Amino acid sequence: MKKPETQFPCRGQHPGLLAAKYVVYKGCLIGGFEALSIKHLKHTHKEIRLNTDVVQGVYVFQGNTLVVPVHIPDSRIPEFLPFEAIQDLDAPKPFEIPGIGGGPGIGTVDLAPEFPLPPQWRKIPLRQVIALMTGRTVVSSSSLGGPILRAYHIIQWRRESRFCGSCGSPNQDAPQELARVCPVCGRVEYPRIAPAIIVIIINDQDQALLAHNKQFVPGIYSLIAGFNEAGETLESTVAREIQEEVGLSVRDIRYVTSQPWPFPYSLMLGFSARYTGGSIQVDGVEIEDAHWFDRDRLPDLPGLGSVSRYLINQWINGTFS
Ligand SMILES: [Zn+2]
Repeated sequence: MKKPETQFPCRGQHPGLLAAKYVVYKGCLIGGFEALSIKHLKHTHKEIRLNTDVVQGVYVFQGNTLVVPVHIPDSRIPEFLPFEAIQDLDAPKPFEIPGIGGGPGIGTVDLAPEFPLPPQWRKIPLRQVIALMTGRTVVSSSSLGGPILRAYHIIQWRRESRFCGSCGSPNQDAPQELARVCPVCGRVEYPRIAPAIIVIIINDQDQALLAHNKQFVPGIYSLIAGFNEAGETLESTVAREIQEEVGLSVRDIRYVTSQPWPFPYSLMLGFSARYTGGSIQVDGVEIEDAHWFDRDRLPDLPGLGSVSRYLINQWINGTFS
């Protein structure tokens, strides 16, 4: 074993360290990224700078809003702002989010809540922006809307990974990958993604079950959804959520599509399922009303661009018949 260049106290509970090319010996961190010492790492993290040659453009966020020049109407929100456009904002330097699979990156500026927005700039709620950008398309990382979903997901994660979850020291950006690193204990934190299911349930009369969640706008009915629990398969999540929220049993649980949904950190996995038994009993906690609906007598539905609306439209078009 090579002699440690630098030793740091370590609790020895950081499996992520190996994945991040650290070397751990007897519970101590003794190497860094690709033979860099932590001392070097501390130095190099300060040298991360935006390479505008490989970045497509920039987003400016403040809280859960997108910040754009006032002269851009809602109907013309561009996929990115050019870097020149943010010069008059006097904002912090953009952070570069690398592209997926070696693709071009995204510049992001995360304005503090107290940052005074100049009068020539305005804020638009993110959910509204995504609906405008995605239109009728279920978004993916490669379609319009994908980059902003990635950018906002990473921005939130950076806001909430300021300190090491193990020893509480301030984290730093890793120099060679999208990760946060603790310079004291070496814990590495990657962006987290929480899988969640959403399912369209169809009965033998080809009706779909739509439910009103307490958090929805009044009158809107959508699909049953919920987060995957640790140690649970996605199919089990589908069956459990349906049983818990509306008291029904299902069969033929089938994956249909997915959608990144950073509110917060989710990856929505869309399924279809066939009703097999039980009578509708809403849980009263999340779901306050649910019914079987025919295609020609539908309630108000969720917005276009959401995976729920995509699944409902697929059913309307007869895809699951
Ligand atoms: Zn730490």
